Amino acid sequence: MDKLQFVLGGATWINLVNTKYISNKQMVDILLNPSRTFQWMEENNLLRESDTLALENEDLLFSLIDELRSLRHFCKVILSDLKQQGKLSLDTIEQLNRLVQQAKVSLTIVPKHEKLKLVIEGITVRDHVLYNIVFSIMNTLDTISIDRIRKCEHQDCILYFVDTSKSGKRRWCSMELCGNRQKAAEFYARKKNKK
Ligand SMILES: [Zn+2]
Repeated sequence: MDKLQFVLGGATWINLVNTKYISNKQMVDILLNPSRTFQWMEENNLLRESDTLALENEDLLFSLIDELRSLRHFCKVILSDLKQQGKLSLDTIEQLNRLVQQAKVSLTIVPKHEKLKLVIEGITVRDHVLYNIVFSIMNTLDTISIDRIRKCEHQDCILYFVDTSKSGKRRWCSMELCGNRQKAAEFYARKKNKK
């Protein structure tokens, strides 16, 4: 279940927001658990081999987790901007700019499927994670219509997702987590009403 939960948002920055979720009526925070946070980063393709090695240093891992926590807060601000005004506020854009200026990156050209590809990588782990999350934010805002960024409809669920389905009618964070339990609840409610 974990792995699915780490990536079901469909975009890294949404997956970061989803690191806080409700399970059995309890709030769970993946970022409070360093080894799960590490797994979360791996599932979201945020770590290169060198990063994995570098993060064996606990101090570095903990400071990165702090960073993720404040980035998560920022991603929530973005969601609330979008919900309230349908676009980013000037404040948020300024903050985004400040983040971009912090991420130091390098460019490399690598072969891919007999072609060449330009790859952007962070200099340090922190740069790399930061760059990828900001890239994810920009990519979503650039390519997805805002009404496709939604919260799961289940009343006990706080997960978000980007609806990339053709019909645009996705209602649940996932069928396994919420779709089925909602259907079961509706089924029992109908049954009860018949009695
Ligand atoms: Zn859900």
